[in-house]
Amino acid sequence: MSVLPIVAWPDPRLKRICAPVERIDDALRQLVSDMFETMYDAPGRGLAAPQVGVMQRLFVMDATWKEGTRTPLACMNPEVAVLGEALSTNEEACLSIKGVAADVTRPNQIELTFTDIEGVRLSMILEGFAAICAQHECDHLDGRVIFDHLDDAARDALEAEYRAMTQ
Ligand code: ZN
Repeated sequence: MSVLPIVAWPDPRLKRICAPVERIDDALRQLVSDMFETMYDAPGRGLAAPQVGVMQRLFVMDATWKEGTRTPLACMNPEVAVLGEALSTNEEACLSIKGVAADVTRPNQIELTFTDIEGVRLSMILEGFAAICAQHECDHLDGRVIFDHLDDAARDALEAEYRAMTQ
């Protein structure tokens, strides 16, 4: 097990579309294990493979561990289907964009379909924070970050805040 370095925005790897996971082998199981360790160490509730420089469609999340209950989930080749029309706006942070948070509007309830670490294709209905977290991580696999959900003015302001902090 090891904690991996986390890629920081504006690294170009955070803007690329990731390739599907082709097979679940020992190397992938090790990567998933390291990604969980990296996420808990950060500390965060979700981490996508491109955030550790691996350009594959894979993320790990645990939406509840900070409240004392561990619900680790490793998702390969995830797909999101929106359920219902309700949206909500919540402040989101990102381990690759440390120090700023953006108000992001997303669907409240989704069906997340993915391949688990055993190679089984599963679907689950997520809402609340878990739904937000899964959508945030899926965004990373398509090269999107929280900035990409903002209008131009809000984006410019937040990017300037971030750049000022990281210089
Ligand atoms: Zn993120």
